[in-house]
Amino acid sequence: MRTLECELLVVGSGPSGAVTAALLAEAGHDVLLAEEGPDLSSDSAENYSYAEMDTKYRHGGLTTTFGGTNITYIEGRCVGGASEINAALYHRPHDETLEKWARDYRIDGFGSAELEPRFSSIEQEMKTSRRPHGLSPASNRLHEGSDKLGWKSGEIERFWRYEKEDGRWGRRQSMSNTMIPRARAAGCRVEAHLRVRKLIFEGDRCVAVQALSGKTELVRVVFKEIFLCCGAVQTPTLLRRSGITKHVGDSLRLHPMIRIAARFDDVVNDPDWGVPVRQVSEFKPDLTLGCSHSSIPHIALWLGQAVQDKRSVLEEWNKVAVFYAAVCGEGTGTIRALPFVDQPFIRYQLTKKDYGLLAAGLMRMGELVFAGGAKEIFSPFEGGASLKGPGDLKAFENVDKKSAVNVTTIHLFSSCPMGELDTCPVDSWGRLKGTQNVHVHDASLLPTSPGVNPQGTIMAIARRNTEHFLGA
Ligand SMILES: Cc1cc2nc3c(=O)[nH]c(=O)nc-3n(C[C@H](O)[C@H](O)[C@H](O)COP(=O)(O)OP(=O)(O)OC[C@H]3O[C@@H](n4cnc5c(N)ncnc54)[C@H](O)[C@@H]3O)c2cc1C
Repeated sequence: MRTLECELLVVGSGPSGAVTAALLAEAGHDVLLAEEGPDLSSDSAENYSYAEMDTKYRHGGLTTTFGGTNITYIEGRCVGGASEINAALYHRPHDETLEKWARDYRIDGFGSAELEPRFSSIEQEMKTSRRPHGLSPASNRLHEGSDKLGWKSGEIERFWRYEKEDGRWGRRQSMSNTMIPRARAAGCRVEAHLRVRKLIFEGDRCVAVQALSGKTELVRVVFKEIFLCCGAVQTPTLLRRSGITKHVGDSLRLHPMIRIAARFDDVVNDPDWGVPVRQVSEFKPDLTLGCSHSSIPHIALWLGQAVQDKRSVLEEWNKVAVFYAAVCGEGTGTIRALPFVDQPFIRYQLTKKDYGLLAAGLMRMGELVFAGGAKEIFSPFEGGASLKGPGDLKAFENVDKKSAVNVTTIHLFSSCPMGELDTCPVDSWGRLKGTQNVHVHDASLLPTSPGVNPQGTIMAIARRNTEHFLGA
């Protein structure tokens, strides 16, 4: 068995792992960043293409939770994690959310004032920006609709760079373009295709991990401290597989999303615009409305079960766009490692309130797109007739276990919440309780759903905890 040695091992290279590794390496530590996925350039595959799903998504995106409604979810699996495949929309969370987390979960040294400098650093380093060349036609329709209804909406900043050499549509500021080059420049070693399978303990110290390089080579990594940054699903899975189960993976949360496709009389869709960047914030944090990427395969997917003749709709694909409603879910789920298979079993229950918010999201989205000029909304429900105007929106009044097909999520968190409550497996600074040298720094730490796109919050908390570790 090959043995690798380092002072500090960071497992997982998504936003949390990349920030952690860069700051530790820049402080002069000997850091190894282990990533189970491949090391690919950010433009190795076209955005939202089959090639991208094949190379950068875990299991090609075919992952689901089980429960009353099965929720399809997506995880990135490559150097840079989900930052390589995401829309890069950036928000600070609401101050009240941060204060509530500090209060309810008894998190020391945590709140909007403590996180403010961390958000500022991220915004400067990652160059969050707005689009300099106007908005996509679908975003403009959302704008027209929200203006007519008197709802607040606006362009969301993104981790995106628009400089001359990046062409008209700019470049995603994913981790492979930002924090990972910084980590490497400071001496961090990046090992791709290295999947950590088990933590090995002597008393309360984790002394090594067992890992698999590629498909077959067994590797042992030894270190002084370990930082788990595998994301909200994989970190609890790894801990549970290593025998650490107390309160681990018991409180998964996510933002359930539901989508509709709508047809207009004129052209609203041009995939060259990428992800439309306008959101309606009137109902945040409970409910966020926005437009989705609307390539032909995506429209076909979101036309749903009800449309028999998809081909004729797709002939005029550039008059159709996809819109989403994302809900700040209050349901919770559990993550359990299974013997002999890598993927865990996730049970997740939407609550009555979640179903109610999904129904409200569909109704409001319907109002919005009709106000923006849509002529037809294709029902996402099996057997549902298409909607021709606001008077038909009653069809969306009830969403329940049976009707809620096509619920998805790309935002998962809270599977190892931080804080001083007994039910928090991780302390206020990310140290796994009962251990001396195991730290969790990723999306698992967020106590509940943030109600906004989470990457910025995850990076700010990883930064705070790393600075605390470094004694800064
Ligand atoms: C399609 C999509 C769109 C999104 N859009 C947005 C958006 O616009 N704005 C926003 O704020 N958020 C967005 N998100 C969510 C955001 O990307 C995630 O919340 C964020 O990336 C989570 O960061 P993380 O570091 O916790 O984990 P991840 O990004 O999931 O990174 C974890 C990494 O760890 C690796 N890993 C896991 N297990 C192991 C192991 N055992 N050994 C070694 N490596 C391992 C994985 O391969 C992965 O690369 C989106 C997510 C997706 C999937």
